Amino acid sequence: MDFNYSPSERAFRDEVTAWLAAHLPVDLRDKVVRYEELGREDLLRWHRILARKGWIAPAWPKEWGGTGWSVVERYIFEEACGYAGAPPLIPFGLAMCAPVLLKFGTDAQRQRFLPRIYRGDDFWCQGYSEPGSGSDLASLRATAVRSADRYVINGQKTWTTLAHHADWIFCLVRTAPRDARKQEGISFLLIDMKTPGITVRPLMLMDGGHEVNEVFFDDVEVPLENLVHEEGKGWTVAKYLLGHERMNTARIGTSRRELEALKRFARSQPKDGCSLYDDPRFRDRLSRVEIELMALSLTNLRFLDQLRGGRAPGAEISLLKIKGTEIQQALTELMMQAAGPLAQPFRPLDEAHAEFDRFMAALAPRYCNYRKTTIYAGSNEIQRNIVAKHALGLP
Ligand SMILES: Cc1cc2nc3c(=O)[nH]c(=O)nc-3n(C[C@H](O)[C@H](O)[C@H](O)COP(=O)(O)OP(=O)(O)OC[C@H]3O[C@@H](n4cnc5c(N)ncnc54)[C@H](O)[C@@H]3O)c2cc1C
Repeated sequence: MDFNYSPSERAFRDEVTAWLAAHLPVDLRDKVVRYEELGREDLLRWHRILARKGWIAPAWPKEWGGTGWSVVERYIFEEACGYAGAPPLIPFGLAMCAPVLLKFGTDAQRQRFLPRIYRGDDFWCQGYSEPGSGSDLASLRATAVRSADRYVINGQKTWTTLAHHADWIFCLVRTAPRDARKQEGISFLLIDMKTPGITVRPLMLMDGGHEVNEVFFDDVEVPLENLVHEEGKGWTVAKYLLGHERMNTARIGTSRRELEALKRFARSQPKDGCSLYDDPRFRDRLSRVEIELMALSLTNLRFLDQLRGGRAPGAEISLLKIKGTEIQQALTELMMQAAGPLAQPFRPLDEAHAEFDRFMAALAPRYCNYRKTTIYAGSNEIQRNIVAKHALGLP
């Protein structure tokens, strides 16, 4: 097993790092590192800069604009972007709908949607979860009834991230009544968010932010041509897509950057005649997170080495989601501990902490917001079940 980058991989990393230093807009980076909310235009601006460079869809086949990079190069790129403070790329079009269309779509669907996703013309969202159907996704109840040349959709989706920005939603709907095997009779549809009968209502998270929504469908008419794969075989599509969703949750580069910010911040905080950074108890907690992050990075490299050798990692890929999100949460907890009362958003910030003003003002809302990471993209309990059953062979 080889945990090291080859000379060409190191050269590639240097090239990406230099390009990011020159092309990542400072105002966008500042928003990211200070945890300010990114709007649709912020997200699309960065998307389009990468699209012009030809780096927006590394994993796509070359004929559709992919870069032809190896899996290791793709990982290096993602980590460098996270570390540099680049805005996250919204995965719904690029990393979820597109792979589905490439595998299951018709030529017409690919021609129609992929170039628009690539250029950032369309903003997508994901309509899987429903009230009562999250972990048990196959119990979903939204229906699509076929009538002449269209489906008529009724039902509700929930937790729909960024639906308020979205032009399109991909949805799992029931096209046949639920029978003994609930995974049967589900279909995968592409729905234009401007279609009459769609209502988007915000769900405010406990940090006061608006990123998720409820989406209601009342007699929404969708052309038959927007069905992906066979009618009733949407579960096959859904499973394929969830595999892609879980690949992108470790966010190692971002956590490395945040760990460094935390260390800088702890050094600036006085504690018993020295700094908080020198406090053995704080140091102990900090070191634990740092070690976990190093271990996660090695686990990731282990998966990459498997992929480099042509072997797809199995269910153990869920470890990236579990550990990655636990580390993200642990970092927010340590930042709160380091900032103490200064982490209150309503507290006036003083001169002595000017460098960290905006950063600290965002800590409490961010701490609250990050409770989500162990729930979304399949909760960590469900990921543990997957590892237990499929990687460890437990009953
Ligand atoms: C911020 C955020 C954004 C999201 N964005 C989207 C989106 O864009 N599109 C979308 O479709 N969905 C989205 N989701 C929904 C997400 O996928 C679900 O919240 C998640 O799958 C959990 O489902 P649930 O909320 O219904 O909880 P439940 O499934 O009701 O689970 C409740 C608790 O029970 C545990 N649990 C459930 N079943 C088991 C089991 N078998 N074994 C052990 N423990 C179990 C869970 O781990 C959890 O702790 C988002 C969620 C959040 C929080």
